[in-house]
Amino acid sequence: MNRAMLGDDPTSRSSRPIEDWFKLIVKSTSDFTRINRWVSTFALAVNEENACFGRVVTAPTNGAAGVIPAVLMYYWCFFEQSDEDGVVDFLLTASEIGSLFKKGATISAAMGGCQAEIGVSSAMAAAGLAHCLGGTVAQCLMAAEIAMEHHLGMTCDPIGGLVQVPCIERNTMGAIKAITAANIAIGSDPAEARVTLDDVIRTMWETAQDMGTKYKETAEGGLALHVSVKVVEC
Ligand code: SF4
Repeated sequence: MNRAMLGDDPTSRSSRPIEDWFKLIVKSTSDFTRINRWVSTFALAVNEENACFGRVVTAPTNGAAGVIPAVLMYYWCFFEQSDEDGVVDFLLTASEIGSLFKKGATISAAMGGCQAEIGVSSAMAAAGLAHCLGGTVAQCLMAAEIAMEHHLGMTCDPIGGLVQVPCIERNTMGAIKAITAANIAIGSDPAEARVTLDDVIRTMWETAQDMGTKYKETAEGGLALHVSVKVVEC
């Protein structure tokens, strides 16, 4: 996707200096479809790196590590006002939201299904982005709430027990929901909201406890049951 978006030879393995790459991305588009594809590309890249045992930053887990960088790259590449202070603030805001979920519910798919991984990473990224777009504290919390609200109940059923399908692609969905949640929150009055972040954290934890073990990283249900993969012997 990266090479296709930049018009590069799809078979080439060469890469550019990172500064040049950033400039090309920024120059290449202001069109929604292409920005959307870039966000997916960023998320996929991180989780392919994770799936092939490369180095990633756990945020809040490895399987969900692509959401936050994808949304952060969206901020960095496509907003004129983006700067390094914004990146730091994004990460601090996202981290605080992650810790609220860790204390009030779980960030473990083995305990809560994928809502605890992709859902939490999406909530973290939504709050970080809302902050960078000028959101108040209440709007950041609202962004996190909206992002998690629409991941509630999401199961974990990695095909073959591998963090590849649906995990790699699922990060693109978490990222785009985070961006949507941030934009909704920025355009809203949190005083009018019916659901609070506390409500959604409590609900996520109760849903986690009700969820069957076959949907908690065991690959005993869902897609894992109906789709087979060939696992190559190491
Ligand atoms: S499906 Fe399971 S292993 Fe994959 S990203 Fe979600 S929680 Fe992680």
